[in-house]
Amino acid sequence: MTTPPLRLMAVHAHPDDESSKGAATTARYAASGAEVLVVSCTGGERGSVLNPSYGRQITDLEEMRQVRTVEMAAAAEALGVQHRWLGFVDSGLPEGDPLPPLPPGCFALTPLEEAAAPLVEIVREFRPHVITTYDPTGGYPHPDHIMCHRVAKEAFETAGDPERYRDRGAPWTPLKLYYNHDFSMTRIRTMHEAMIDAGLESPFGDWVESRAAREIPEREVTTRIPCAESFPARDAALVAHATQIDPDGFFFATPRDLEAQVWPVEEYELAASRVATTLPEDDLFAGIAGDEGGAP
Ligand SMILES: [Zn+2]
Repeated sequence: MTTPPLRLMAVHAHPDDESSKGAATTARYAASGAEVLVVSCTGGERGSVLNPSYGRQITDLEEMRQVRTVEMAAAAEALGVQHRWLGFVDSGLPEGDPLPPLPPGCFALTPLEEAAAPLVEIVREFRPHVITTYDPTGGYPHPDHIMCHRVAKEAFETAGDPERYRDRGAPWTPLKLYYNHDFSMTRIRTMHEAMIDAGLESPFGDWVESRAAREIPEREVTTRIPCAESFPARDAALVAHATQIDPDGFFFATPRDLEAQVWPVEEYELAASRVATTLPEDDLFAGIAGDEGGAP
């Protein structure tokens, strides 16, 4: 008897987040035979072109959605994962003092039950054992990242309850919920020091100083996934997001051999678990024997 595949679902706010947060983990599990599904809550319509070598700005929301749809398909192929859209519209990152109101109809203004319903439906269809998303702060304060956390947590908590979201498929109970922590201070400082020790210019200096000055409390890292062999897939996925990622910019500043040597992992916080596990972990599926989960 063969064991049914384990299933991992990574829930992200915008196309490109799946390539900058937990990307090598998803590629690693997909390569090792797990079923991996990335869900993007929004189309990234209100993102700006952030790559100076892209050559032009895009201001039309529909055009940006179409461009990023093509980029996302290429990124999913590079990672070797399945992909679904929730279909909500990017809220944009409000800037100014005072902050402007969010645009009507955007993801972050959608009532929680309405925003979570399509994700609950996908959870019941894909039946993930493990779900990853952001911590309650969103990891950084983009309203879509905070909303992404809220809908993923709602889906984790309610998808197995037959009394909730009754018209959205047969109940399925995911077993573990994780938060991505790819930008932990420990990682940034380690990379920063490794760059300096190697006689290279570190792009992390300002970050180290500003984070230290603001004394942002670090969230707990419970789980480190070894995934250096999937860094090339991650890099290919990043480059696929040509409007967002500068191939000569921040994400590619660290030499890859140096990165694989000093930081060959991606980090997570186990936020909830319905199975027994021992911390720290090096596997998102630790404690999950096979095709568990299902109706409570
Ligand atoms: Zn984002």
